[in-house]
Amino acid sequence: MEHRDLEDADPEVYQALNDEIERQESESLEMIASENFVPRQVLQAQGSVMTNKYAEGYPGNRYYAGCKHHDKVENLAKERALDLFGGDHANVQPHSGSQANFAAYAAVLDPGDKILGPVLAHGGHLTHGHGVNFSGELYDFGTYAINKETERFEKEDILEAAREHDPDLIVMGYSAYPREFEFEMFREVADEVDALLMADIAHISGLVAGGKHPEPFPHCDIVTTTTHKSIRGARGGMILCKEKYAEDVDKAVFPYTQGGPLMHQIAAKAVSFKEAQRDSFEEYAEQIIKNTEALAEGLRNEGLKLVSGGTDNHLVLVDLRNEEVTGKQAESLLEEIGVVCNKNMVPYDPESPFVTSGIRLGTPALTTRGMKEKELEQIGEMIARRVKNPEDGKMEEKMKEKVSEILEEFPLYENSKVKY
Ligand SMILES: *Cc1c(COP(=O)(O)O)cnc(C)c1O
Repeated sequence: MEHRDLEDADPEVYQALNDEIERQESESLEMIASENFVPRQVLQAQGSVMTNKYAEGYPGNRYYAGCKHHDKVENLAKERALDLFGGDHANVQPHSGSQANFAAYAAVLDPGDKILGPVLAHGGHLTHGHGVNFSGELYDFGTYAINKETERFEKEDILEAAREHDPDLIVMGYSAYPREFEFEMFREVADEVDALLMADIAHISGLVAGGKHPEPFPHCDIVTTTTHKSIRGARGGMILCKEKYAEDVDKAVFPYTQGGPLMHQIAAKAVSFKEAQRDSFEEYAEQIIKNTEALAEGLRNEGLKLVSGGTDNHLVLVDLRNEEVTGKQAESLLEEIGVVCNKNMVPYDPESPFVTSGIRLGTPALTTRGMKEKELEQIGEMIARRVKNPEDGKMEEKMKEKVSEILEEFPLYENSKVKY
């Protein structure tokens, strides 16, 4: 077979990949709370010959021959996952967080069973019962809401919703909730109504792995996550569970919802979990918390209101209901100065999901670049001033320059070119 380098074989894609390195490196401050930058060793494992194999089944029990090295990396990924997150059993094959949720529900429920999940506009994910998603169609969802006063999930509200819906399973875990996920409190509610408890820790898994957020086990029966958000690993999903559900979880992933696993991704998951076991990852998680607190401080200093008043984790949700701009307008104002974030519903938002009254800002990616409290506080103040002065063109120019300066000071992949 003729082997050619990508540069030679496909100059157009090669160019796009290098342009993307440039975009990530020097065009914007990445503040989308679900995004991060993986270390080079993760990219290397992803771009490896592990992609060439069909490995349907599980280590030691595959449908095809020739899987010994695949067994090795999958077992490493599983062992490391259990070390980081607890639980008795790990399945590292889900292709994404949504696939993990699909399989997790299928493992412990039948179609038509009852699930209690968060109101979508209060921080849940599409897979938590949205009408456009499989979950809303296959299961009978009821919802619990954020408390209007405290802007947090409170036990009495959840208990009331649980008593009314009488669910078989309660799902907790959010994409836009700036406070601690209270596994123990949800367990108490689940026990009251005799339901299983599932936590979707996609957003906070890096904080859990780094020891900066309480652990989901032993409170939860089943836990799902993505492997590419705050945990800074290969893109994909994972399920962890108690021994009792291990066999059902494995069957639900393969053959029920997936075929051959993406073994290059699983190798890269193993590599990123090893990174997360290092002491340096604990420092990273700690810095995320400090940076988000500094960001919140900067935003509040300049008069912006934060949902629940602040943050315990890697993100803040800015409430723009008292400001002149909507979430949509704020998102594009910020994009113009090189701050990339997303508009987001705030609890009890009067605007539509396409407009919204909020923006969500996360710090995992900037923390990976090496930024600390000083930069995040400055960035918070800058964001607030921009949002409060949408007409000020001079300010816009100055801020663009400031963003470029910060980016230059914190290089990312340092003059990388795509090479395999
Ligand atoms: C991101 C996310 C998911 C889905 O992950 P995908 O890999 O995009 O399918 C599921 N649940 C929560 C809470 C998330 O934040």
